[in-house]
Amino acid sequence: MTDFPIHKIREDFPLLKQKVYGKDLVYFDNGATTQKPLKVIETVNRLHREQNASIHRSVNFMSERMTQDYENARETVRRFIGAGKTAEIVFTSGTTASINAVAYTYGEAVLRPGDEVLVSVMEHHSNIVPWQLSCDRHGAAIRVIPITDAGEIDLDAYRSLFTGKTRMVAVTHVSNTLGTINPVREMIRIAHEHGVPVLVDGAQAIQHEKVDVTDLDCDFYAFSGHKVYGPTGIGILYGKEEWLERLPPWQGGGDMIDRVTFEKTTFNELPFKFEAGTTNFIGAIGLAEALRYLEETGMEAIRDYELSLKDYAERMLGSLPGMRIFGTARQKVAIFSFILGGIHPYDTGMILDKLGIAVRTGTHCAMPVMDRFGIEGTVRASLCFYNTTSEIDRLAEGLRTVIDFFA
Ligand code: PMP
Repeated sequence: MTDFPIHKIREDFPLLKQKVYGKDLVYFDNGATTQKPLKVIETVNRLHREQNASIHRSVNFMSERMTQDYENARETVRRFIGAGKTAEIVFTSGTTASINAVAYTYGEAVLRPGDEVLVSVMEHHSNIVPWQLSCDRHGAAIRVIPITDAGEIDLDAYRSLFTGKTRMVAVTHVSNTLGTINPVREMIRIAHEHGVPVLVDGAQAIQHEKVDVTDLDCDFYAFSGHKVYGPTGIGILYGKEEWLERLPPWQGGGDMIDRVTFEKTTFNELPFKFEAGTTNFIGAIGLAEALRYLEETGMEAIRDYELSLKDYAERMLGSLPGMRIFGTARQKVAIFSFILGGIHPYDTGMILDKLGIAVRTGTHCAMPVMDRFGIEGTVRASLCFYNTTSEIDRLAEGLRTVIDFFA
């Protein structure tokens, strides 16, 4: 892609100019967290310097201005993900909190002994463990959606898992380990045929793909600010209004109540029922700034550019001796989990680090994926739209150094 304004974009992300051990940083750990554009950094800075005041609390100019900005941020999120109403957008601390909120409250409201929750093999632990906890509390059980050797959901097996006891499907939109883009729209359609709602973990999708929750028809969608070029400690839970109305509150505290007495407490309307305590309001406004940055850049342009990086990386990495890439789905993002010959992922990661190349090593909070492929861990290079083909060349060169070192 020649017309993608990569030079301008790199200028927007000041951290990319860092040197590591005297070398230009190559940041390929975007699956863990993404860097922030100046607009986000400056917004968060300005809010702390000039505008800080607690939201929804006081009748004073400062508080009202911050409240307005916070609610405008909610509207930006609503628009970005194509939700129908701002009441359906809950600010949380991140994907993990969003999924825990649903798993806990859905358990309370719906799960009964013998019920089943479908979860895929490729889930991040944060879309497995909350469901295990919830199922344990209510005598329900997890049933596992298998994946193929290419790292794709086995759709036939998925279809056959539905029984009269299936109560929820929890599935990731994009795998943080394999890069697979799951056919969530189709999976949701199938689940709805059985009257079963679907929670989609969007932590690794929202930054790569145009997401439209109305088109997907998902019942819940979760993502984190820090993985979508926004601040840390802020995230989103989208839930269809009818579900959020039906689920009980998750945490109790300020803001989520209507009236409190020792005899009885009534709860605030949506979405505040799920926003107990002082939320990360500055983070929320920073997140909205990040989403606007993506809108200005264009999600389609971002996707096309990232796909060109993916194809290039596939060629460059694929030609290295001993290279085993886990996750070869037809639809995938530029996330590469691999092992080089018999070299331990940690050793590969250590050498790359000394060459200024940041990757992640280990199980990537997805141990069942490692078990599925019979491995202990991988090296993961996760790319995004501020990366370049010359950085991929640096990675390939670094991996050749690793191979030579262990030869
Ligand atoms: N799901 C997926 C697919 C992820 O990649 C991650 C983060 N690695 C999470 C959930 C959890 O996100 P967070 O730690 O921001 O809550």
